[in-house]
Amino acid sequence: MLSIAIDGPVGAGKSSVADEVARRLGILHLDTGAMYRAVGLAVTDAGIDPADAGAVAALCEKGGAHVDVRYENGRQITLVNGRDVTGRIRTQEAGTAASQVSKLPQVRRMLVRRQQELAKQQPMLVDGRDICTVVLPDAPVKIYLTASAEARALRRMKQLEEKGGQADYDAILTEVNARDHQDMSRAVDPLRQAEDATLVDSSDLDFEQTVQAVLRLVEAAHV
Ligand code: C5P
Repeated sequence: MLSIAIDGPVGAGKSSVADEVARRLGILHLDTGAMYRAVGLAVTDAGIDPADAGAVAALCEKGGAHVDVRYENGRQITLVNGRDVTGRIRTQEAGTAASQVSKLPQVRRMLVRRQQELAKQQPMLVDGRDICTVVLPDAPVKIYLTASAEARALRRMKQLEEKGGQADYDAILTEVNARDHQDMSRAVDPLRQAEDATLVDSSDLDFEQTVQAVLRLVEAAHV
């Protein structure tokens, strides 16, 4: 089965690049960050502190944070306990909760299993933090997409400003560094570049150049 695995830190443009590459290749894009965000949301909706490992694990074990995805016109719909939460998972709070619950082995086991099942059923481009290392270690195309923390913070600031929001560069850079630290230092499946993944540094690339860089790697793999 054709799988393209892309890992990388927050703000590297992974999701939008992955979306566009998948669209041009005519395959589905599985955004695994959305699944962790959905668990984060289920946890906070249940009134549980995402940092309370015991309570989060208990909720998962009793099936109270069941995450799944389906596709409508090629677009991923993310569900928790059967409810569509696609529109609610993009907030800063959901991202922070996701980062906390993603440290827990119970949460990771549950989501990795589902991601592997989905990628077995159809050709997919899967993006996340542990795709090349854990979820699809045998994927024929493995990419680590990153950019400097400064470039990522600047992009995020521009995105927020475009939406009409107030954005403070220093606060965003601090947040980017904090998220990197959390993702890279966790005990279970930390974010790292797999030895056989190709590095794409998008610090000095625009969106189209980054898409092209990824497409060239897919082409070079002859899959
Ligand atoms: O990519 P996104 O920002 O949506 O991911 C939210 C959080 O989910 C990340 O900060 C990370 O902690 C977690 N995550 C993960 N493993 C993945 C995808 C996301 O731990 N494969």
